[in-house]
Amino acid sequence: MKELVRERDSAILIYYKSVLEAEGIAVMVKNQNFANMEFGSAPIVPAFYPQLCVMNDEDYDRAMAILKERSKPASDAEVADEWTCENCHEINPGNFDICWSCESTRAE
Ligand SMILES: [Zn+2]
Repeated sequence: MKELVRERDSAILIYYKSVLEAEGIAVMVKNQNFANMEFGSAPIVPAFYPQLCVMNDEDYDRAMAILKERSKPASDAEVADEWTCENCHEINPGNFDICWSCESTRAE
């Protein structure tokens, strides 16, 4: 068993767990109960954060690659695709269809 990630919010780990299980990778969440404890009853420090672990060490690299893919900001491609307004020459993010500055339509 090998630790993949550690998160204060076990909901994130449960999401990752479902993603990895869908890929056929056996994983488990450790220390999940610590996160549910009342503050004050246990020290909430990273050492006690819930951990997502792969059951089989040989799945580790593949699991990490999948998690990296998932945690990448979805806007990466859009940011790379920014465009310049022909009217006012402001730079617009790729997901904008009209200029944020002068509201000109994006030229194709
Ligand atoms: Zn403009």
